[in-house]
Amino acid sequence: MNCDAEKVIYMDNNATTRVAPEVVDVMMPFLTECYGNPSSMHNFGGQVGGAVEKARAQVAELIGADPTEITFTSCGTESDSTAIISALQAFPEKRHVVTTRVEHPAVKHLCENLDRLTGHKHRVTRLQVDSDGTLDLAKYEEALTEDTAIVSVMWANNETGVIFPVEKMAAMAKERGILFHTDAVQAVGKIPITLSELDVDFLSISGHKLHAPKGVGVLYVKRGTPFVPFLSGGHQENGRRGGTENVASIVGLGRACALAQEMMGEENTRVRVLRDRLEEGLLKSIPKSMLNGHKTDRLPNTTNVSFEFVEGEAILLHMNRYNICASSGSACTSGSLEPSHVLRAMGVPFTAAHGSIRFSLSVYNVEEEVDFVLKKMPPIIAELRELSPFWKED
Ligand SMILES: *Cc1c(COP(=O)(O)O)cnc(C)c1O
Repeated sequence: MNCDAEKVIYMDNNATTRVAPEVVDVMMPFLTECYGNPSSMHNFGGQVGGAVEKARAQVAELIGADPTEITFTSCGTESDSTAIISALQAFPEKRHVVTTRVEHPAVKHLCENLDRLTGHKHRVTRLQVDSDGTLDLAKYEEALTEDTAIVSVMWANNETGVIFPVEKMAAMAKERGILFHTDAVQAVGKIPITLSELDVDFLSISGHKLHAPKGVGVLYVKRGTPFVPFLSGGHQENGRRGGTENVASIVGLGRACALAQEMMGEENTRVRVLRDRLEEGLLKSIPKSMLNGHKTDRLPNTTNVSFEFVEGEAILLHMNRYNICASSGSACTSGSLEPSHVLRAMGVPFTAAHGSIRFSLSVYNVEEEVDFVLKKMPPIIAELRELSPFWKED
């Protein structure tokens, strides 16, 4: 298959990322000759186990954790499920969960199905966000009760890039003896994280959001935090997750974490400059366009811009003609175009929520790509507005 990757202007990195060539290189031996089982007694497998342990140390290093606190999983979704279900099983007498209205479906839909999954009735508090996507800490404090088993709050939002004050929120949960989970899938590798200094009990990572392959994730579990496995089986991962390890992808994820750490300073600054150039250019050249999400409490790579009176999906189709890849904040669910739950929670007006586009950059983007997008977007929006019955220039 040839997917013409070199022709594409890829600005959809919050959906998935390119596997770094350096990551592919370290994975190859484990897809070919080094096929031993890491649990085997013989050296042939033992060496493979050593590679898994090296990757564990690399992941731990990036997030300021101890290698013994790292468990490899199959994806970010599994890590999220494992953390929340584990906490509810560790404290079966507590039946309350605190989360937000803007979580990724991995947490959102899990929290909608807790009763079915655990066989108990749960109460879920979903914290409201302000119009800029930020949380009110006073409301958060009010939500924490004696009955709360776990808080699950994402570190950074996948649609807007807005960053939540996870450090403070984790400390507030800890004071009350409540476990704290954060879905940090979008944050890890983009902003510095030092878990040894924080009261975070569980943290989720996904490989394919940081230039490692799809189908591998990590659950960080703080030393001393009660834990109940989600997948029972063999004694892999120190008894925390059964199932033979996805060795090649784990080794790749380790390398991706080391690369992210090297790039954290300089490269992320370069990405931020590109993102700002794109954002300012769009807002300046296109009338009735606006930023969704807090201007500064935000990931360096993400911008979510609404173009009033046009449909996001129509914009994406036009962008597709120029091989520009991004996402829209409206998903075509069951035939109806619903604005995303994130933008709805922020109270973005209907006409704007429908025309929202998320651009998410990576270290592979260059200035020429940003300038190309800035050249193409104004005529695309103008053309679509010509067709819109709601558009009136004033
Ligand atoms: C992508 C994503 C996930 C899910 O990760 P998978 O590895 O695809 O299961 C969870 N949370 C956030 C915030 C994400 O962006």
